[in-house]
Amino acid sequence: MRLFVRIFLGIFALAVIGLAIFLVPPHLQTQGIKPDLPTEQALRNLMTAEDGPIAVHYVLTASQSVRGRQLAHTTFLVEWANGNLFAIDAGMDETGAADFAELMNRISGGGEAQFFGTLGAQLGSELERVKGIGFTHLHIDHTQGVTAFCSDRGAGTDLLQTNDQRDEHNFNTVEGAEIVTKSCLSRGTLQGREILTNDAFPGLGLIALGGHTPGSTLFAVGLKDHLWLFSGDTTNTKTDLVNNRGKGFVYSGLFVPENTGRTENLRLWLTGLDTNADIDVIVSHDLEALLATGMPKFSR
Ligand SMILES: [Zn+2]
Repeated sequence: MRLFVRIFLGIFALAVIGLAIFLVPPHLQTQGIKPDLPTEQALRNLMTAEDGPIAVHYVLTASQSVRGRQLAHTTFLVEWANGNLFAIDAGMDETGAADFAELMNRISGGGEAQFFGTLGAQLGSELERVKGIGFTHLHIDHTQGVTAFCSDRGAGTDLLQTNDQRDEHNFNTVEGAEIVTKSCLSRGTLQGREILTNDAFPGLGLIALGGHTPGSTLFAVGLKDHLWLFSGDTTNTKTDLVNNRGKGFVYSGLFVPENTGRTENLRLWLTGLDTNADIDVIVSHDLEALLATGMPKFSR
């Protein structure tokens, strides 16, 4: 064999070994996270909680056109009769949205970020009603807006977070975890097993999912007549969810180490629930599917 071929093969082998050393631990970690899921009836029990939530609204912080669809960066606001709000995900500030759009553009193509304002800018004086916040997972596009949120809001917001989301990180979630740890948020206590609840937010439940990231969490919101399930980035589109389509090897194997067996179980579980007329599964980034549910936009 010629010398340069041997050198090439040597470098290639080293690169493969290096990649394996880098990727095997996060894959082993996420393979080990598959907590029990609640039954449909247990989820429906959230709908009968005393003084449960009265509405759910969406806020669009930013969006980007990617291959003909709008990739939305949303925050969802759960509202109670006493005026309290709970935010699911924090979106990004303008710089964060521009940086993320550029990253997406390099990976898979896409237009420039459109920015619609931080939570503070869009909520104005209503921001102080936000008494709790939670994250579907700790990727930067869901957490970066916390810094702006804290400088606008100050202390007084509880963080509801599963133990997996607090403790289990990989190279994609450490940055978001650090933003959250250093933020103004103080962690609230949770009760329960498959469905975790907090007395200050009756009718709201957290369910540890894993799959997409070690700490991925489903937020379930039981209104009296409707159950909303916020599935984060278990899939990137609603179509992928209902058609049980994974994200492919490059995404799930290399860029974002996913437990693909688990994400498939979750797709099937969530699709089954979504077939009910009074249950909607919301996929974080799918604006078109969100608008089709008729969820109202938050207005002051
Ligand atoms: Zn995301």
